[in-house]
Parts: sequence; C-alpha cells; structure tokens
Amino acid sequence: MIIAGPCSIESKSQLENTFQSIYRHIDIFRAGVWKARTSVSAYSGYGKGSLKWLNHLQNKHSIPVAIEVGTPKHVELALLNGIKIFWVGARTTVNSFYVQEISESLRGVDAEIWIKNPIYTDLNLWYGAIHRMEQVGLKKIKAIHRGFYDESSILYRNNPRWDLLNTFQQHCPDIPIICDPSHIAGKSNLVSEVCTRAMVENVDSFMIEVHEDPDQALSDSLQQLKPLELIQLIRTLSNSS
Ligand code: PEP
Ligand code: MN
Repeated sequence: MIIAGPCSIESKSQLENTFQSIYRHIDIFRAGVWKARTSVSAYSGYGKGSLKWLNHLQNKHSIPVAIEVGTPKHVELALLNGIKIFWVGARTTVNSFYVQEISESLRGVDAEIWIKNPIYTDLNLWYGAIHRMEQVGLKKIKAIHRGFYDESSILYRNNPRWDLLNTFQQHCPDIPIICDPSHIAGKSNLVSEVCTRAMVENVDSFMIEVHEDPDQALSDSLQQLKPLELIQLIRTLSNSS
C-alpha cells in the first residue's frame, strides 16, 4: 500500500496540484496540517483552514486522507472535517501526557491511528503509545517506522536501526508496519534504496513525501520526491515485489 503527499500543506494550489498528479497511483493521501517545528520562525503548517480542502479532495476522489495530530484539538477539528486517519508524530510519541490526551479524544470513534517510532531509541515509548490507543478501544492501529535520531554522522537523516524494527515486530506481531523512507533518508535520492531495504522486512506500506516543486517546499525540501519520481518509484517497487 502506498501513502503519499506533501510534508506540509502550503496553499490550496500546492495541495491540489500535488494531489492531482499522484492520487491515481496511491492508496491514501498524506498531508501535514500542523507541523511541530524546532524554531518558532519555521513554517508551522497552514492549519485548520486547510482541513476543508482535504475533506473535499477525499470525498471527490474517494481516496482517504491521513494527517498528523498532536493535540486533542487537532483531533476534534479533523473529525469535524471528515478526516478519520491520524498519525502521532515522532516528537509526540515521546510525551505520554499528549499521547494519553489524544487517545482519550478518540475514545468511541471509528478512526485509524498510526504511531510513529519515538525520536530516540526507547522502544517502550512506542509500545506505550500503542497500548494507550488500544486501551481506549481503537482497533485500527499501525506503527510507522521513521528511523531514530543518531548524533554520530550517518548517511541518512535518521538511523533506520532495522534491528530495532525487528524487535518491535517480535513484540507487536499483529501491528502492521508503515515504513517512512522519506524521514529515514532525509534526501530524495536515497528514498528508493531505503524502500528496497525495507521490502525485506515485511512492511505493510510505505509513506512517502511528495511535493509539486520540492526545491520550493517550506518544510523538508531535501527529502520530498517530485510526483513523477514517486510514480517511477512505485513502478520499480511493484516490479520487484
Ligand atoms: C512528517 O511525517 O511530516 C513528520 C513530521 O514526521 P516525523 O514525526 O517522523 O518527524
Ligand atoms: Mn516531513
């Protein structure tokens, strides 16, 4: 299964152009509405005004949309706009207060939730976040492998630590894995080799960042693929599977 879309929504036209050029090739469209940024001056997403655009696209083209949520307010606004697939970002998985509050906001809701691995290599945080989602009765839970922060210089932006992915898979054999090669690689020219490597690990899906014009992207410009690059990558992956 392929999940793809921009790191962040920047404008209606950027969203629509990116969507139009890829939606026939993918299963779920991803987009960042709110971005957790280190610097207060960095682009933090278009915010709630873009939710109605996403809802319109998913209804018109019958393709579900997934977004990141970091607070119960995000969940509430997204549900009001018909969005039902959410992921918890790597910076949120480490915070049990937020994970707990997000889980409570989804109690009794027929939603799907994906949990990204925590930024650092404490797998208990990953398991803990999943257990909190299970505890409120959510049934559709997946894990996203996006690699781990590693201060020693490595080829990739985040160290994939396939060994830790395997530990996770042994501990949670029923939780499907979505591989996020974009945040592992950190550079668009390395995304494909991360996908090839991940194919060996029995992953369920890929979540790949795509932007109509990556060089101009307001977040993660180095790692986003152009629409045609995504389509080519999907062809290569399906030929090799
Ligand atoms: C993202 O998927 O755009 C994102 C912010 O990822 P992560 O939480 O893995 O850094
Ligand atoms: Mn990103």
